[in-house]
Amino acid sequence: MEILVLIKQVPLDSNVGVDPKTGVIKRENAETKLNPYDLFALETALRLKELAGGIVTVLTMGPPQAEAAIREAFAMGADAGYLLTDRAFAGSDVLATSYALSQAIKAIGAFDLVVCGKQTTDGDTAQVGSECSEFLGVPCLANVQTIEVIDPGAVTLVYDAGNSFIRATVQLPVLISVDKDICQPRLPSWNRMQASKGRVVKKITLDDLADKNRSHYGLDGSPTQVVRIFPPEHETTTELWDDGDLASRLFSFLQEKKFLQELA
Ligand SMILES: Cc1cc2nc3c(=O)[nH]c(=O)nc-3n(C[C@H](O)[C@H](O)[C@H](O)COP(=O)(O)OP(=O)(O)OC[C@H]3O[C@@H](n4cnc5c(N)ncnc54)[C@H](O)[C@@H]3O)c2cc1C
Repeated sequence: MEILVLIKQVPLDSNVGVDPKTGVIKRENAETKLNPYDLFALETALRLKELAGGIVTVLTMGPPQAEAAIREAFAMGADAGYLLTDRAFAGSDVLATSYALSQAIKAIGAFDLVVCGKQTTDGDTAQVGSECSEFLGVPCLANVQTIEVIDPGAVTLVYDAGNSFIRATVQLPVLISVDKDICQPRLPSWNRMQASKGRVVKKITLDDLADKNRSHYGLDGSPTQVVRIFPPEHETTTELWDDGDLASRLFSFLQEKKFLQELA
């Protein structure tokens, strides 16, 4: 079984710079980690491989340093890794990112299953999985809770449809996204890290894609343009009370601000 996992390198915390002109996160010098939700996607794939056999490949789109995310996936047990990287992809919004990823998936080869995390902790749109499935022309099942049976041609799984859980049998190939309650990710292993040190992370650039039209990628291919990025504005005022009947005063204050109802 050929399983592809989409993984993304994200900033370690929210303390990252933003380019004031383009509104794009400056990722070059930011400390990074593997998107936490993608650990669950990778673990799901590794468990399926243990059950059904096959190969687990990871793919990420990002700057050259995103190779570290692939090396981390190797240390968890992934067999092969691809880095989609080219200046042509800089500034891609979610649509252009999904298009570039789906082009790369087609360039790598045929897959039975593509597994994504539920969302990232930086972009946070939770749209990449479903958009990739559209571009790939395969079904998409989001919020998969359990994978019950995997056959050569189909998979039976349970997914959360919001107000109900649905058990479905779907023909492969299919794209799924998983949340953090599907399994407990294993820790990266030092032995696997050492064993995979010499493994090549294959680079994919625009030249390797079937669609080489630059205007379909990056800022040009992005219908979303960042107008402004700014921290949320909070209006906070402070009053200090240190004499009188503080309890009654607090009670009246809370009533006045409509935090408490008048007692009948
Ligand atoms: C105008 C604009 C410009 C932007 N410019 C840049 C830029 O220059 N550089 C940049 O890095 N980001 C840029 N972004 C952010 C970028 O578009 C998003 O990070 C990207 O679309 C992924 O969306 P998301 O993070 O919301 O993923 P989600 O949809 O929340 O992620 C769901 C799942 O999809 C998979 N996934 C998501 N992103 C990737 C990826 N890159 N590779 C592999 N798998 C992935 C993972 O499995 C993840 O768990 C820009 C966004 C906008 C709106």
